[in-house]
Amino acid sequence: MDAVSVLSGVFGFREFRGGQRAAVEAVLEGKDAVVLLPTGAGKSLCYQVPAVALARRGLGTTIVVSPLIALMIDQVAGLTARGIAAAALHSHQDDDEQRAVIDQLLRGQLAVLYVSPERAVKESFQRLLRRTRIALFAIDEAHCVSEWGHDFRPEYMQLRALRDVVDVPTIALTATATPRVLAEIAASLHLRAPATVRGDFRRPNLAFEVQHLRGDEARFAATIEALEGAGLRATGGGRAIVYCATRKKTEAVAERLKQAGFAAAHYHAGRTALARDRAQRGFSSSRTRVLVATSAFGMGVDYPDVRVIVHFQAPGSLEAYYQEAGRASRDGAAGRCVLLFGAADLVTQRRLAERGGTGARREDALASIERYASAARCRQQLLCAHFTGTDDHPACGTCDACVDPAAVRTRRIEARETPTPARATLSSSQQQLILDAVAALRRPIGKLNLAKALRGSTCKAMHAHGLLHLPQHGALRDTGEAELVAQIEQLIAEKRLARRGRKYPTVSLPGPRSARRGDPVRSRGFIKTSNITIELETYRKRMARQLRWKAYMVFQRGVIAAIDRARPTTHEALARIPGLGPAKIARFGDDILALVRRHAP
Ligand code: ADP
Ligand code: MG
Ligand code: ZN
Repeated sequence: MDAVSVLSGVFGFREFRGGQRAAVEAVLEGKDAVVLLPTGAGKSLCYQVPAVALARRGLGTTIVVSPLIALMIDQVAGLTARGIAAAALHSHQDDDEQRAVIDQLLRGQLAVLYVSPERAVKESFQRLLRRTRIALFAIDEAHCVSEWGHDFRPEYMQLRALRDVVDVPTIALTATATPRVLAEIAASLHLRAPATVRGDFRRPNLAFEVQHLRGDEARFAATIEALEGAGLRATGGGRAIVYCATRKKTEAVAERLKQAGFAAAHYHAGRTALARDRAQRGFSSSRTRVLVATSAFGMGVDYPDVRVIVHFQAPGSLEAYYQEAGRASRDGAAGRCVLLFGAADLVTQRRLAERGGTGARREDALASIERYASAARCRQQLLCAHFTGTDDHPACGTCDACVDPAAVRTRRIEARETPTPARATLSSSQQQLILDAVAALRRPIGKLNLAKALRGSTCKAMHAHGLLHLPQHGALRDTGEAELVAQIEQLIAEKRLARRGRKYPTVSLPGPRSARRGDPVRSRGFIKTSNITIELETYRKRMARQLRWKAYMVFQRGVIAAIDRARPTTHEALARIPGLGPAKIARFGDDILALVRRHAP
């Protein structure tokens, strides 16, 4: 029986997906194989089709090593439903159940048997293998052999012993395809000249994005914005996963999201089996729309409609990130993967990583995620290059670096193009302007004065509060006062701004005052801004008016900050300012240099 007839006759699929045919053919030719395919690409089929074909030829049972019991149970159910004799041996079965499976195995009735790595390396299990006919070993999630990886399982290192018991072909499968992990898999499992099948790691339907944020408040706001953008507050389809680095954080974030009106739950390995089960089932049935989880959630999960994956904190490696983010929109519809990144995340990961791997390995993995977060090139290109070791992937056109390279280069959230929340009347960059204005305040002011300042008012209160020097003074001149106040109120409702005080309520950034962002510069009345920054801001506004551009199109606020820090005096120095390309230097360069020179000490 050939592979294609198994595929259609048993599995009901019309054709192989990319990579599957090559993997199946290699195995049926008796070769070893390593299959590197992204999550959701269909790795299971790469050993299941040969397993059926081999069993029908009377060549015996395929032994599948799989690290998760839940996954085994799912797979066995799926195979059984297709009329394939499949079973699993795991610690959740009682003695009778296990004996029944062993009986079937010894009678040669099973096409596929799933076992945990712990079971597979046991002497008692290996004795069973000697007493029956084995056709193939399949090692699923094979990156677990790698100490470099994020799912290291010590038992995986001993799986090579299976080969000594019965010498049949071995197929290893993983979604982690870095050259190093590949080499470790082949070496650790003693694979012999394995056929290597490498899939397409691009996910054209996913929009990758990184936001550099400090502090939980900003991260809450960004998370809520991403969830709202995907319509997760409204009724309707779609789910989201919010990944956190620590168990404690999953609880805090889930709590916060519930308060904000989302159907959220949390999941981590420290919860009871019952609680985890309940969380997972709620998410499966879409009663829970947002699952806040540690990396303990997700291996092998396959939900088609997870529209957003937010990493509230950065994971410990790019492999872990891509594997988790890759769970978005498996059905091919548009999805969004947002990594919230701050230097504190690396500290957290170092603290967490004490158990696995040496310092050098850990640092290496952390460096990869940091590189990803701070790169200015297409995110998918970078991911694909990392995972395949080749650098010939086209830009995706949908990630933040493709859509708005200047914004990414300056690593500011200001101009990021995000779906605007339903109730917002101002664009996200205009909203960011408001937030920037508040960030520039040394002391909080009332929302009406804030609105007036943004509209460029010169009334007495503006003088009194020093608001004429606010860099954003007049930046939203064309917006109505009522509209602005409404927008400020909405930002407060979204907890992106905080309201303080009862009698004379003022607005400020959420969180403790010390956690505010903004460059430490000379303070001046209510505003903490340097003279260069103020003048550049004025210049930017003037040019924007002249050119009929938006101010951020002249250059971004991050560029102003960078100029203020670097104080460039030559065109060469200007060219090193991120976010100022040659076109802008040609147009504005001389003015900027003159402006900086005026402030030279
Ligand atoms: P992976 O292990 O690579 O993450 P799975 O093996 O769990 O992916 O497969 C993901 C989904 O793709 C499953 O629902 C599977 O039935 C489906 N699938 C796999 N191969 C094909 C195919 N050739 N045609 C259609 N659907 C497929
Ligand atoms: Mg799989
Ligand atoms: Zn891109």
